[in-house]
Amino acid sequence: MKTKEVTLYICEHCGKKYQREKACLAHEAMCYHNPENKTCCYGCKFLEKVAATHYYNYGDRLLEKKVNVFRCKKKGVYLTPPQYDNDRYDLHAENVTMPAECAEYVWQYAKG
Ligand SMILES: [Zn+2]
Repeated sequence: MKTKEVTLYICEHCGKKYQREKACLAHEAMCYHNPENKTCCYGCKFLEKVAATHYYNYGDRLLEKKVNVFRCKKKGVYLTPPQYDNDRYDLHAENVTMPAECAEYVWQYAKG
């Protein structure tokens, strides 16, 4: 039998374990349990997933790509999860970060 002591990197927010520090740091930035990623949008009846067009530059050309994005039916804006703040789609329309708290929130299963 062989034994080996290893260093494990553990997510501060959810406890997931990694053997590589970089992988753990990348996970922590995206982790849904990270308070910086908190959003009240999931579970709200106004949240919908829709197809949209993302515009991006490739050299000096403007290209388009079909993407699926979140949208708030109540506010009429596209929503980007906080984890993707620095990597958001250019939809040529208002595209805001999902809020941590929202006065318009209504639970998706609420009656009426
Ligand atoms: Zn985590």
